[in-house]
Amino acid sequence: MPFPARDQVLWDIFKRFLETMHVDRCAIALCAPGEASAQIIVGFDRSKEDPWIEGVNLSLDRYPEFRRVLETQQPLVVPDVAEEPVLSGIREFLLSLPIRSMLVVPLLRQDQSIGVVSLSTRGTVRNFTPDEIVVCQTLASQAALTLEKTALFHEVQERANKLQSLIHLTKLMTASLNLQEVYDFAVKAAAEFLDVPCAWLVVADEEMRELRVQASYGMEEFVGLMVERIPYGVGVIGEIMERGEPQYIADVRQEPRLLNRRFVEQGGVVSFAGIPLISDGRVLGALAFFTLHRRFFTPDERTLISAFASQAAVAIVNARAYQQIQRYASTVAELYEAATQVSGSLDLDETLQKIARGAAASTDAASSTIILFDDFGEVTHIVEWEVGGIEVRKDGISRQVWETSRPVVLPDFASIPSGRINPRLLALGRRAAVCLPLQVRERIRGVMWVHYNEPRRVAEEDLHLLASFGSQAAIAIENARLFAETRRLANTDALTGLYNHRYFYRLLDTEVKRARRYGRSLSLIMLDIDHFKQFNDRYGHLAGDEALRSLAQILRKNSRRVDTVARYGGEEFAIILPETDLAQAAVQAERLRAAASEFEWPEGCLTISLGAAVLTPEMGRVEDLVREADRPLYEAKVAGRNQVCLGSSQSH
Ligand code: GH3
Ligand code: MG
Ligand code: MG
Repeated sequence: MPFPARDQVLWDIFKRFLETMHVDRCAIALCAPGEASAQIIVGFDRSKEDPWIEGVNLSLDRYPEFRRVLETQQPLVVPDVAEEPVLSGIREFLLSLPIRSMLVVPLLRQDQSIGVVSLSTRGTVRNFTPDEIVVCQTLASQAALTLEKTALFHEVQERANKLQSLIHLTKLMTASLNLQEVYDFAVKAAAEFLDVPCAWLVVADEEMRELRVQASYGMEEFVGLMVERIPYGVGVIGEIMERGEPQYIADVRQEPRLLNRRFVEQGGVVSFAGIPLISDGRVLGALAFFTLHRRFFTPDERTLISAFASQAAVAIVNARAYQQIQRYASTVAELYEAATQVSGSLDLDETLQKIARGAAASTDAASSTIILFDDFGEVTHIVEWEVGGIEVRKDGISRQVWETSRPVVLPDFASIPSGRINPRLLALGRRAAVCLPLQVRERIRGVMWVHYNEPRRVAEEDLHLLASFGSQAAIAIENARLFAETRRLANTDALTGLYNHRYFYRLLDTEVKRARRYGRSLSLIMLDIDHFKQFNDRYGHLAGDEALRSLAQILRKNSRRVDTVARYGGEEFAIILPETDLAQAAVQAERLRAAASEFEWPEGCLTISLGAAVLTPEMGRVEDLVREADRPLYEAKVAGRNQVCLGSSQSH
């Protein structure tokens, strides 16, 4: 139901009144108790061109008759201004208007004067009859009643509006699953409902046993005065948390417990209210409100804000649960990815990078590193995520973890001698870290670090998670190591350590293709030990084996780094020479021959025969090149051994 505006109701009463009273001037003026001025809310002055008056302020010094009636709460009847003692100070002025008779009655509300109704005549003296006085008093009480009703109505309406917006914000708050959004909604809704200029929402960090400000409202002016963390049990807020009960302090200036004196002294805070956020009997945090004037919180407000606080607590619990589920889901995804990566890829660096990232992401860490050691404690790999330039010191924590195989938790760098912490981490603003060993079957292969931007006691749950990533990393490291080993074994000859026949053909194929693509020359030397059968027969196969190893050394030592020496089979060897034409290959072959023949063989002396060939366009397959080098090798044997023969000189 629409309610007419206060002044409209008064105007209606006032007009009806004017019709019956026939006076020259008439006004309803309001005056708050103790005030020095009054305000005409409805007025009429017949002498004016526009006789209707409203919203005019009057000083009570110039209206002693108003003051008298407000004080006595009794009607004042003035038949003749000229004779009334109350008006002595303004008599001349009134007579100049010329005002002659007056009737002033009080507006009473609950035995309090809240204003007056005043009537006056011009020129002629008028004796107000008792009936007229009663009519005037009736008007006054009607006006007072109207004022009372409208005031009440507006109060109710304002409360309804505030409630409406509180309900609206509560709905938004409880619908949100974003924790920060819930914090922000809660503090804003509560502050607006209570109509306070500044508010906080603090949340308990159970690990650190402290409260943290997670959202604030209208605190801009307090920047610099604010504390972001409050240790448990300190100050009024600490007490609210401990007892789980609201606290209302009308004047914090008289309050010895308040934590932040600067709020009071520099910020000008006067009143305070703090409401705990409780869910399932657990105090999660508190809402804190500050006002710059003395503020009384009504029982109504207290009830509503406490109800709101429990809604906020539920919303916080929900958003947290959602966040945890999300985090769990993303952790599972990260772990899964790490696991598939580990089994699917043999690129160690890339795998470790993913594991490092996954470990950091799932424990809210800012960065991470994985450091691998060889069996002698030398660093072989450093993989970094969101951090760079990590150095591993001989006496550092990484090596300590590697040696002891025990994780190290550093909850706060501030409490550790600064020399122990990598300066790079301090420069990046990291404040805490965990370092755990990466163990593969009794062997510590490395360590994994995760670094945090805030001090924190790492939860048991986080350590478990990190350990899962750690074992993934360890598996990856082991796989990569095994793979590298297998690959090495597959490609090398066990006796001499040279590349084997298989690898020789794979590489020759690649080199032939490359030479053809870029039009470069490529040569091949095939060589065979002279009379090796005899050697074996004379000195035994073990000596033969030793001789093969020695020759492998000789060949390797006397070859360029780009050349590849392989054991072709038995006592035959092959050397691939990229970027080498036949003439250069001949020189190289002669060098090898000389080296072998000049070598001081421990048993009998050995020589080698060599054939060299160069790749030509006519050669359809790699075997053609091998055949082309084999042919002069045979010629060298026939020609008396310990010499070099060359294949066709048609190179491209
Ligand atoms: P030629 O100068 O014509 O090459 O004479 P040769 O005796 O070297 O030639 P032949 O091919 O008849 O003999 C090769 C010998 O190399 C036979 C074998 O006993 C020996 N041999 C091959 N592989 C190995 C090995 O791994 N260890 C040892 N000790 N001997 C090997
Ligand atoms: Mg042979
Ligand atoms: Mg031989």
